[in-house]
Amino acid sequence: MIKLKSLEEIELMRESALLVSKTLGLMAREIKPGVNTLYLDKLAEEFIRDHGGIPAFLGMYGFPNTLCASPNEQIVHGIPTNTPLKEGDIISIDCGVLKNDFYGDHAYTFEVGEVATETKKLLQITKESLYVGIREFRSGNRVGDVGYAIQNYVEKHGYGVVRELVGHGLGKKMHEEPEMPNYGKRGSGKRFSEGMVVAIEPMINMGTHKIIQFKDGWTIKTADLKPSAHFEHDVAIVNGKPELLSTFKYVYDALGIVSDEEDEFRAK
Ligand code: MG
Ligand code: MG
Repeated sequence: MIKLKSLEEIELMRESALLVSKTLGLMAREIKPGVNTLYLDKLAEEFIRDHGGIPAFLGMYGFPNTLCASPNEQIVHGIPTNTPLKEGDIISIDCGVLKNDFYGDHAYTFEVGEVATETKKLLQITKESLYVGIREFRSGNRVGDVGYAIQNYVEKHGYGVVRELVGHGLGKKMHEEPEMPNYGKRGSGKRFSEGMVVAIEPMINMGTHKIIQFKDGWTIKTADLKPSAHFEHDVAIVNGKPELLSTFKYVYDALGIVSDEEDEFRAK
């Protein structure tokens, strides 16, 4: 069953989402060649606890860390390690918190130093596809409208949409209904309505959409070992329209990026 949220609950969820956004901002300041993801993980855990949150991934289904840190060909669910990041890597950082009984769950794929042009393009198109999907998350539309929009946008560039992992409803549970695939048919699936909150999170591969699971039981990587990108926002339907609860503002402030990409999804 889909649990609709009141405006008061949506405000609490915004706090949870923003704590993740700020954690990603901290990561943006720290990520550079030579830094390892276990160090980032410790920083993130401390930051979340210092700000009244609980690291939500830590211990969830047995996951050992605060962050999912997935470099290059790893798609999601990467376990932080002491291997230093190198110039030209990309690193997806996915982070969840529990605050005020509500979850925030939000991700960004960062460049480490100077990254190849074709990799930059993968990141850009994946992030654009996130907004293309969010635009369809409005009252009256259906789950398939979001998936179709994302898939159609990225496949034009020859990229692969991961099938096995999907976005999801968000609330007092990390994974609520509905599932939000990044592929689909227009007009299919559950219908959206006021008060729905979801995490939309395209996972897009430069090459094949096929995946392999690591022996660690967690890490998912691309079958052809080409890079994969992942961006995730938490979004509510307010007044029939998508409103962002999370933001990349803190990441952009840290990286000196000026962007108006979120403006259309802000409360007026
Ligand atoms: Mg998620
Ligand atoms: Mg996530």
